[in-house]
Amino acid sequence: MPQLRQNIITGEWVVIAPERAKRPSDFVSGESLKADTGKPCPFCLGGPAYKQVLRDYESEDFYTIPNAFPAFLEDPTSCSHRTYHVEDDFYSARPSTGGHDVIVSKHHDEQLFDFRQSTWEAMLLMAKRRYIYWRHDCNTSYAMLIYNQGARAGASIFHPHAQLMASNIIPNQVSREIHGAQSYFEQNGSCVFCDLVTHEIKEKARVVAATDNFIAFTFYAARFPFETWVMPKGHSACFETQSATQLRELAGLMKDVIGKLGLTLKRPSLNFYIHDLPSTVENADYYHWHIEITPRVTHYGGYELGSGVIIDVMSPEVAAKYLKKG
Ligand SMILES: [Zn+2]
Ligand SMILES: [Zn+2]
Ligand SMILES: [Zn+2]
Repeated sequence: MPQLRQNIITGEWVVIAPERAKRPSDFVSGESLKADTGKPCPFCLGGPAYKQVLRDYESEDFYTIPNAFPAFLEDPTSCSHRTYHVEDDFYSARPSTGGHDVIVSKHHDEQLFDFRQSTWEAMLLMAKRRYIYWRHDCNTSYAMLIYNQGARAGASIFHPHAQLMASNIIPNQVSREIHGAQSYFEQNGSCVFCDLVTHEIKEKARVVAATDNFIAFTFYAARFPFETWVMPKGHSACFETQSATQLRELAGLMKDVIGKLGLTLKRPSLNFYIHDLPSTVENADYYHWHIEITPRVTHYGGYELGSGVIIDVMSPEVAAKYLKKG
């Protein structure tokens, strides 16, 4: 069973999930994922994964399964997210409960850069339904949709799939954002993300694309070359409150932005993830859901790891210029 352990110095959490290392693909070296490995694809329809499908969470284009090696284990029998202490009460830990979905495309050869708007829409709709499911789970405080594209971004299976991690902690990065957004709200009386949108629209230099209700821009304090954020222009705390019409519009913008990144960086490895309000909070004036897209075209060195201060070799303003051309 995976276990959450708390850093006694900083209070940050890590998941210890040794079961995950049993995947043979974890030991395969090399940095490319091949479409044809000679082995049958585990995620194609009729393969072993599809036997685990959650029947209520299958659509024309996607199906959902529990991850075979979950970082967060669903426990319908008890609400057991309390912290306990180990080793003479020195360290703190928690059972790593919640859940870990894999949202699998039914189209093996349609890679992220080739997703049609309808594919994006179907994936976002499925994610929304799973967010609502996890919001009602007593072991879940936070749900996060993630997508790993390419080996350098942590993908181990070529077949296109997203994952939704539901945890009984608020993840470290989100926790920092929430504290920052709360103190900004206390000082300024406004949502920092709403102010950011207003500022970026006025400034123009970093805006990559926009629709009536959503905007995409390279992030001012980017941690990765070409790091791009996508968010609703109007205030909205929770991703799962987006209507089907809004998700269709967002799907169009995501296709556009990922397409531009694919063209400019020649289909790079990248991650994207949704930052949302914790499921333990109903609504908030201070927090605003958003998507962060992080191309993985450089590696972090010792300074980045040792200091937490990222040296980004690409100016976000120049990156935006390239993306607008793409
Ligand atoms: Zn496949
Ligand atoms: Zn806002
Ligand atoms: Zn964020």
